[in-house]
Amino acid sequence: MKKHILNYTKKDLEEFIQPKFRVKQIFSWLYQKKVKSFLDMQNIPKDMRQKLEDKFDIRTMQIVSKQVSRDGSIKYLFKLHDGHTVEAVLLKMKDKEYNEDGSIKHLEKYTVCVSSQVGCKVGCAFCLTAKGGFIRDLSAGEIVEQIVQIYDNNNLEANRRVNIVYMGMGEPLDNLENLAQAIKIFSDIDGLAISPHRQTVSTSGLSSKIEKLAKLDLGINLAISLHAVDDELRQKLMPINKAYNIASIMEAVRNFPVNLRKKVMFEYLIIKDVNDDLESAKKLVKLLNGIPSKVNLIYFNPYEGSEFQRPSEADVKKFQKYLLDKGVLCTIRESKGLDISAACGQLREQNLGEKQ
Ligand code: SAH
Ligand code: SF4
Repeated sequence: MKKHILNYTKKDLEEFIQPKFRVKQIFSWLYQKKVKSFLDMQNIPKDMRQKLEDKFDIRTMQIVSKQVSRDGSIKYLFKLHDGHTVEAVLLKMKDKEYNEDGSIKHLEKYTVCVSSQVGCKVGCAFCLTAKGGFIRDLSAGEIVEQIVQIYDNNNLEANRRVNIVYMGMGEPLDNLENLAQAIKIFSDIDGLAISPHRQTVSTSGLSSKIEKLAKLDLGINLAISLHAVDDELRQKLMPINKAYNIASIMEAVRNFPVNLRKKVMFEYLIIKDVNDDLESAKKLVKLLNGIPSKVNLIYFNPYEGSEFQRPSEADVKKFQKYLLDKGVLCTIRESKGLDISAACGQLREQNLGEKQ
């Protein structure tokens, strides 16, 4: 079977492709010009092109579904070589920038949310991805290919500034080796040049893996899916809390190297009548004391058969106001692409349902 070329950093490829400058050229073809066949790499000698074509695949997955939301976000469902499917979402946000004369120019800001596993072992009670159990890790190449295909599908230039969030299906830190490899491949200046500062890893809080990630010192941003402020409730929502309780997560976060200008993000999924009270907000403020942090409130997005409900807008706003009044940075994640079931796992489930 052929190997997937998107699995490799330049350094890896230099082990078997010589001289070195060829690797640079190949990277540019793969990530900047986005060719789909080695035979089209015009400045590479013909016999080398053929050898590469015999040895490597450039694409291993197909887009099987694409849904465009009213707000412009696009949700993709990819079919992997073994028939399993994962989701990725291109989120578009309007951004303001000022021209030299002071007039405003509107820019489109892109963020891509990628998956790291097929399914997930963590088993959170509110998450649709968890319902199907765990199937397998994605390879580094499969993580990378989601982005490459989304660039391709939207004609994004390689120098386009794009953010990556590892917030799709799966627990990224449960697939740390491949995740770290993908982060390095994305940031290569001869490739997509997406700096680690523009990449955010979201985790359910595997404290020991947060420590390992810290040691790798990749320069990425960290997001913690906290969702509850006491162990009893968190354990009910996220069984992983039995192995790694809130105190152990906070300890790992305190030791995490954070880019000076950045903060650790705490995600707080608000569920109606479960964690939407001001008492929780109060405890959250206490918990974050001394940590350079910002909070992102997320509306629970219900799905068919889910036991939880979406909170009221008034309660979410009240929760936010409490935090802001206490000096904690806090945003509400607008339900981007709600009409296309943007909470990850939901498109895949819909698609599996249709097939049955
Ligand atoms: N496993 C990692 C990253 C993927 S989950 C983690 O848990 O952080 C990404 C985000 O989707 C998490 O913050 C999770 O809380 C959120 N999510 C899961 N189910 C959701 C739902 N039904 N509605 C809204 N957000 C949801
Ligand atoms: Fe896994 Fe994240 Fe879903 Fe929890 S929320 S089951 S960790 S994907």
